[in-house]
Amino acid sequence: MHKLLPNLLIFLFLLHTTKTIASSTSDTIPGKIEFISPVEIPISLAGNFGELRPGHFHAGLDIRTQGREGLKIRSIYKGYVSRIAVSLYGYGKVVYVTHPNGYTSVYAHLSRFNDELENFIKNEQYRSKNFEVELYPEAGQFKLNQGDRVGWSGNTGGSGGPHLHFEIRNTLSEKPINPLHFNFKVTDNIAPTLKHLTIYPLNENSSIDHNDLQKTYKLSKSGNTYYLNGGIVPIVKGKIGFGIEAMDKVNNSPFSNGVYSIELLKDNQRVYYHVMDSIGFDKTRYINAHMDYHQKVKNRKKVQRSYLLEGNKLDIYKDLVNNGQLFFVDSSTHNLEYRVMDFYGNTSTLKFKVKSNQLEHHVMVKKESVQTLKYGEPNYFENDNLRINIPASCLYEDTPLYLKEEKAIGRCVTPRYHVNRLSDPLQDYIDLSINVNSIPENQRSKLVIVSLNAKSGILAAEGGGVDSNWISVKTRSFGPYTVMKDTIPPRVKNTIAINGQSFNENQKITFSVKDDISGLGRYEAFVDEEWHLIEYQKNKSKAFLKLDRVQKTGSKHDLRVEFTDKVGNKTIERYYFFY
Ligand SMILES: [Zn+2]
Repeated sequence: MHKLLPNLLIFLFLLHTTKTIASSTSDTIPGKIEFISPVEIPISLAGNFGELRPGHFHAGLDIRTQGREGLKIRSIYKGYVSRIAVSLYGYGKVVYVTHPNGYTSVYAHLSRFNDELENFIKNEQYRSKNFEVELYPEAGQFKLNQGDRVGWSGNTGGSGGPHLHFEIRNTLSEKPINPLHFNFKVTDNIAPTLKHLTIYPLNENSSIDHNDLQKTYKLSKSGNTYYLNGGIVPIVKGKIGFGIEAMDKVNNSPFSNGVYSIELLKDNQRVYYHVMDSIGFDKTRYINAHMDYHQKVKNRKKVQRSYLLEGNKLDIYKDLVNNGQLFFVDSSTHNLEYRVMDFYGNTSTLKFKVKSNQLEHHVMVKKESVQTLKYGEPNYFENDNLRINIPASCLYEDTPLYLKEEKAIGRCVTPRYHVNRLSDPLQDYIDLSINVNSIPENQRSKLVIVSLNAKSGILAAEGGGVDSNWISVKTRSFGPYTVMKDTIPPRVKNTIAINGQSFNENQKITFSVKDDISGLGRYEAFVDEEWHLIEYQKNKSKAFLKLDRVQKTGSKHDLRVEFTDKVGNKTIERYYFFY
């Protein structure tokens, strides 16, 4: 049983207050709400609330589905379907159920909706001639009782394997709440694992172990108590920040999840605390400030800072002393202690000492950059080849400007431009324009701005529109960029024989589809010249044609499938079959 902390009580009280406005039913206090599990098997977690993900904190639970698709997913409480969507990315096929107690539950990555919803969404897909759709049904249209099927579990959207992504949100604010507050049964008596400590110098007068660079320390453990490896006592001076790498496991699951809370004490006084109870979608990207983004990109360490960068607007923090930025201006030794807890109260601690030495003369190792992008101000840069507009909301702190041009290689049709470093975080979109003067005008419609990884491989096709010699995109990543020309249409293969075959209504015709550079944009089928839906599952590079809306005549049907990439290169294949 999870012990209620004072903070949590306040949190629950706030929730309760909000809900009283939404409805006046008596079953509105978390803990007394009788939600049932969304799955009929015991809950085993692949991911938990607040877990550190790329660009966001995980907004719900990832519930394992025995490695397969097709499990019954049921409504946790009575309510009505308030939203239903199909997307290639993110949640894939997803159902939102609004309950009369002020909460909305979310069921994502489904393989299929319940029959009623499946028909409803398919009507919209045929009406709009689009696979990706989103609908907000009326309150009375699709009512569900507790336990009613919302759909079948799957692996659609941005999913790396079969599982259910499950959320509970406050209906009014749409803010996701840690679902473990609602007493779903999860067994967890394993304390968090602590991996590394990083100490940060926070201005030019501060130092760690005689120089001005941040430093990472390995840990050793005894029981659930950790120490700095070898009993090291770091020497610190001036304004200092700390960060810790920690993760948590639950029983009966191999997955590494996020921890629930992190507390830092200096000489037995709390100077930092955060807790994963609720995070709004408007704040979740500040994870790029909460974490040490450089370490994440450079060596995949997920270090959580226990001090705030200037531009960090997350509201998960409590009781911060001086925003967690500590001053070491005496000549004594100080005791520091991290307490890291999972949701069920299993706790690991890291105990270490630092020696404060205000007389220390440290070595300046950090390279000074010529130009700095200023935090809180718009930054604009332009030369003959490049225009970069960085709005004021983009940076978390002053960031060195790093621009470099390298010659075109491989399929690049312009030089490769380093637009700052991959490891510099961005909160908001910047405008990036690259000069394409050298490309003949009649070829420019096939151009795509591409972001590159450290080895110049394609990281993502960013797209881009060309206007008077410049191709432009909005992007939320720094790093190397170039322009490529995409003239190759998608490669399409039918994975089962089609021509001359007889099919029944339970079969689907599957295609494997791949596209270089720009990516698949449109996909559609025409049976006897009539439009039919093709479902595309991006993570599997597969497209499906279901025959349930083809007129069953028992005779021959002509099939034409068309796959078009995002710059208009098109592949058309023709078949015939019997149905
Ligand atoms: Zn998830």
